[in-house]
Amino acid sequence: MENFTYYNPTKLIFGKGQLDKLKEEVPQYGSKVLVVYGGGSIKRNGLYDQVLAYLADMNAEVFELSGVEPNPRVTTARKGINICKQEGIEFLLAVGGGSTIDCTKAIATGAKTDEDIWDIVTKKAEANDALPFGTVLTLAATGSEMNAGSVITNWETNEKHGWGTPYTFPKFSILDPVHTYSVPRNQTVYGIVDMMSHVLEHYFHHTPNTLLQDRMCEGALQTVMETAPKLLEDPENYDYRATIMYNGTMALNGMFNMGYHGDWATHNLEHAVSAVHDIPHGGGLAILFPNWMKYSLDENVERFKQLAVRVFDIDPEGKSDRETALQGIEKLRAFWDSIGAPSRLADYDINEDSIDEMAQKTVIARPEYGNFNKLNIEDSKAIFRASL
Ligand code: NAP
Ligand code: FE
Repeated sequence: MENFTYYNPTKLIFGKGQLDKLKEEVPQYGSKVLVVYGGGSIKRNGLYDQVLAYLADMNAEVFELSGVEPNPRVTTARKGINICKQEGIEFLLAVGGGSTIDCTKAIATGAKTDEDIWDIVTKKAEANDALPFGTVLTLAATGSEMNAGSVITNWETNEKHGWGTPYTFPKFSILDPVHTYSVPRNQTVYGIVDMMSHVLEHYFHHTPNTLLQDRMCEGALQTVMETAPKLLEDPENYDYRATIMYNGTMALNGMFNMGYHGDWATHNLEHAVSAVHDIPHGGGLAILFPNWMKYSLDENVERFKQLAVRVFDIDPEGKSDRETALQGIEKLRAFWDSIGAPSRLADYDINEDSIDEMAQKTVIARPEYGNFNKLNIEDSKAIFRASL
């Protein structure tokens, strides 16, 4: 294990009926509130009315930014930043999924600086502060509700980048699994793939002695795989939604990955695909992860074998380590197929014509990426080709 400092200041408020905690939390930060949300799902399921009623009760002065896109755009963040600066907003409330929360992080940061937010996202400029913000999560997937990361897309340059600052942790996040009942089946599946992918990104590293971390990661993967099929059969089951929601948060709040650095190449590959084709993040990961795994197998076969045996129940008896490892990867693929996740870039009408462009996007920030298996532009092309 490497030395580490763990710090996560987000207050997690979990469970049925917890929305009323807004009354205690929001007034601590101010009364001029910008509510940020997406394309309208919160209006259709009634959550918007509930949130606004609480804000009215506390006499908050409410402003709104709606229409945050899946794969949120820097142009939308800039709109929110202008509102904050013009109106003297004191607090931001994100009501939605990862996209709404990520956009809110960009707005909160941009509101406190004269730098353009895209320069901060691309690390050309530094952020030294952010407005305080809270979240009401409506989709279990990204973990953005309890981390400081954000992913923003620029459609002028076709770039999608992850970034974060010490100031972009939510002050609080309210997670009521009931708020996820209305998530459609495909988005539920993408969320499941995303949270599993976060755990898999952690899992592939070369740091010795991460025994507890390994078991936590394996436990999370097993729990998701046990629960996901039941949830898809019974989408308004509180316990299944709660298990998946808790899992999504834990997968990327820093708890599983203390003392080592995971790989994260597959997220970089996926960001390149969605920067060019605007596909759902979890859909892209479902296509790319098994192919990254096969490509990276020989980097540390033992690691893949451990995953295969412990998580995918592959019997290693009479098989080479490589065979065992490969069967584990096949079982991951089969599981994602069984819940209806996409498996080929062709599922999104992406063909070989865009391989070079997507590969180029994987190395914009640096010529090599991936901590477990260092990849370059030629590796990106090979993995995209295997994913066609
Ligand atoms: P999302 O993009 O926030 O939402 C996807 C879709 O689900 C939207 O159309 C949204 O509709 C709908 N939706 C959300 N909640 C709903 C509900 N309760 N009922 C019905 N529909 C609902 O999805 P996400 O997977 O959470 O976020 C994806 C983004 O996060 C990507 O840009 C990805 O790269 C990024 N990401 C961030 C992190 C991080 O740590 N920050 C990690 C991984 C990925 P409305 O717009 O109408 O609400
Ligand atoms: Fe992700």
